[in-house]
Amino acid sequence: MDMLQVFHMNKGQGEASYAQNCTVQKKIMSLAQSFVEEAIEDYLSKNGCPETMAIADFGCSSGPTALDAVSEIIGVVNATYSKTSRRHSPNFMVFLNDLPGNDFNGVFASLSDFQDKLKKQKDDYDLGGCFIAGLPGSFYGKLLPPKSLHFVHSSSSLHWLSQVPEELNSQENPRLVNKGKVYISMTSTFEVVNAYRQQYLKDFLAFLKSRAEEMISGGRMVLTLVGRKSRDPTSEEDAFPWEFIAQTLARMVSEGLIEEEKLDSFNVPYYAPCLDEIKELVEEESSFIGYRFEAVEVEWDGGMDNNLSKNNEFSSNNINIIMPPTKGEGIAKMHRAVAESMLEHHFGVQFMDPFFLRYSRVLDDYLNNNPNSTHISLVISLIKK
Ligand code: SAH
Repeated sequence: MDMLQVFHMNKGQGEASYAQNCTVQKKIMSLAQSFVEEAIEDYLSKNGCPETMAIADFGCSSGPTALDAVSEIIGVVNATYSKTSRRHSPNFMVFLNDLPGNDFNGVFASLSDFQDKLKKQKDDYDLGGCFIAGLPGSFYGKLLPPKSLHFVHSSSSLHWLSQVPEELNSQENPRLVNKGKVYISMTSTFEVVNAYRQQYLKDFLAFLKSRAEEMISGGRMVLTLVGRKSRDPTSEEDAFPWEFIAQTLARMVSEGLIEEEKLDSFNVPYYAPCLDEIKELVEEESSFIGYRFEAVEVEWDGGMDNNLSKNNEFSSNNINIIMPPTKGEGIAKMHRAVAESMLEHHFGVQFMDPFFLRYSRVLDDYLNNNPNSTHISLVISLIKK
């Protein structure tokens, strides 16, 4: 699968869109807020404020989160400013990056909401001082001129690899076929695990190297990405969600809907590292000082369940009682918004509804016995040397 051409979050504002189904990513962003505040305040106190502050969000997607991150960053700069004697906020040059298939038009369509938000932060805010540009391309390569960025942000994106490791599905070595699985699992061979790990090392180093060139000395970077609890990538507790996706596909194979070979040849371009792996790579690349590393726990549905029970109170007089979605259905919808483009590319559009229906049942079966399941998000704050 060519990531540049195929991979994208579900577009638009409809029910199946990423914009409507990014509760978990929003939650993760809110958990990382203190890291962003701390990094900006620290940067400004040590370096003073530039005339124009250049910010980039890598993997912005097309939901409300694309501009939420930016308005949060600008808000922190402005708040820090108002504590100083300077009268005017700096200009902001904002780059919103994602793969070319991203719904950039959707992002730009919500610019007026974004400007309203900025106005609310500060009545006399000069909107003319905020310049926004889309930046299509892979964040695993250079996207901006040297020494042009003061602040780099990326949320819930760096667990996506630049590609599925090429060695997988080698015709010569059966140990490189990830039988019945779509990502590293307890039954994956050493060769499969290693292929994933090597791809991750290569990609994450390429990300750090590219940003190291683009950032000014003293510039700050705050990243969040899905991580692993255990050092062992095959551990059961880190199997979510791909183990359940593989189970669902295996069910469809046994029903005769999908060929076994089709499942065996599907692997996702994804890797969830543990905190130590990231620390080691930051050290190896050597352009950044590790300022803060943390792993935060996030509920599988990002706490959506709590909101659902509030929103779905219905009176007994209501004749058309619509059952609220189950937790599994809610999570399946979120995963559809993220993973549908690559599943559809491999299996075909006709399998999407049957797949996600079964997937929500698989999730419900698991969650009925494990209602408090969580996964890990890593939050990393770095300083460019
Ligand atoms: N930051 C947003 C979106 C997260 S979804 C939020 O927190 O809600 C992850 C995004 O990363 C997707 O939009 C995906 O297209 C993008 N992405 C994945 N690999 C990428 C790459 N190599 N270069 C740029 N963007 C990438």
